[in-house]
Amino acid sequence: MSEQELTFRDRPINMNEKGGRKWIYAKKPSGLWFTRRTVFSWFLLLFFVSVPFIRVNGHPFILLDISSRKFIIFGAIFWAQDTFILALLMLSFVLFIILFTVTFGRIFCGWACPQTIFLEMVFRKIEYLIEGDYRKRYKLDNSPWTTEKIFKKTLKHSIFILIAIAMTNTFLMWFIGSEKWLKLVSEPISQNLAGFSIMLFISAIFYWIYSYFREQICTMVCPYGRMQGVLLDSKSIVVSYDYKRGEPRGAHSKGDCIDCHQCITVCPTGIDIRNGTQLECVNCTACIDQCNKIMLITNKPPGLIRFDSEEGIKNGHKTIWNARNRAYSFVLLILFSFFVYTLVSRPVVETSILRTPGLLYQENENNTISNVYNIKIVNKTHDELPLEIKLLSHKGEIKMAGKSMAVKDQGLYESTFILFIPKDELKGDNTKVEFGIFSNDKIIETVKTTFVGPTSN
Ligand code: SF4
Ligand code: SF4
Repeated sequence: MSEQELTFRDRPINMNEKGGRKWIYAKKPSGLWFTRRTVFSWFLLLFFVSVPFIRVNGHPFILLDISSRKFIIFGAIFWAQDTFILALLMLSFVLFIILFTVTFGRIFCGWACPQTIFLEMVFRKIEYLIEGDYRKRYKLDNSPWTTEKIFKKTLKHSIFILIAIAMTNTFLMWFIGSEKWLKLVSEPISQNLAGFSIMLFISAIFYWIYSYFREQICTMVCPYGRMQGVLLDSKSIVVSYDYKRGEPRGAHSKGDCIDCHQCITVCPTGIDIRNGTQLECVNCTACIDQCNKIMLITNKPPGLIRFDSEEGIKNGHKTIWNARNRAYSFVLLILFSFFVYTLVSRPVVETSILRTPGLLYQENENNTISNVYNIKIVNKTHDELPLEIKLLSHKGEIKMAGKSMAVKDQGLYESTFILFIPKDELKGDNTKVEFGIFSNDKIIETVKTTFVGPTSN
């Protein structure tokens, strides 16, 4: 038995018996599945790079502006006041990932996770290009420092550093927007020393992850990988080895597996998929491609390693739909419908009206009582809104500080106003009052607050 077969249950394959790092030299993958993944990764990388520059009616398509607590997702603006709607969206996303995992295993990791996309489709490809495939790389790493080695390592790490910096800056644009980023980089570094240092620090982390830490993110750090144990069941379709067809393995055995270890050599996490579904498997499909090549050479049908479920392998038929993922789909549908409903029905402005702290009421000569209020209006649309405030619940008069109540697109309006109500309109010392916020004579929101007056009323 190989060391892998003896120890895979005791410790991660990328760890030696003393707990130290065991470097994985994965063979360069190729084949139909890898081509599909490569094409898919181009779309994702293009999306990642182009999103900060995409505009919808002149506004960002996606912007995660944490400092202003403003998020634009697919053109829709979410403010701090929309946390509930954002939470619904996040919950729907998490449920979607769970549903997808229950049905198709850890497929997200191999196909769409930024960690895998950047590691396998960007950094590792550059590494293969400069240092060669796994055997050459192993030889290079274990050879003395010659001019060739110094040149290759310097070239590789310089490119890695540049990509890490480019990645950080692209991420930055997702959070601050491309215009603000352009402004920042055109200013002298001394003006943004703190921001520049943070950018360098994050770039250094990216560089360290992709040049050194690598697959350990998936096998040791990522919590999603740990969830596989509870999410997967015998019906989940994952990258699986057909043990019924493959065993007994060996060059001269009856089974189709010739025990060539090619599926292990190509695995970026270094595991042997023939040991069954494992936490370390990111469903990258490299072993499917590699085993299919062996099957072609040995004149056996492809698919000894393939996308299948435990039940599919055992009973010969796989089904995508089962009671568990139907139930998840149902809950997801309800949750997502609720999200869409709350998104569509939310008011275009968010108003808060509160009595100015520290001020009570005032009795006026014209037989009215007045209260002073602070008003805040957030415009959630991409258009400037001319607004007007009216008292709906009582007869009364509003005197605004300032004339115009036009609120800029995605802007915040803050002001103060005095509300006068005739004494005979009030029935106690604390009266509920209701305001209407109007735009172009159309009511767009109502807001309730309290009005205080003398007890005798
Ligand atoms: S590549 Fe295929 S034949 Fe070779 S060891 Fe893996 S499963 Fe067996
Ligand atoms: S076992 Fe196969 S699918 Fe899983 S990570 Fe390794 S190569 Fe990729």
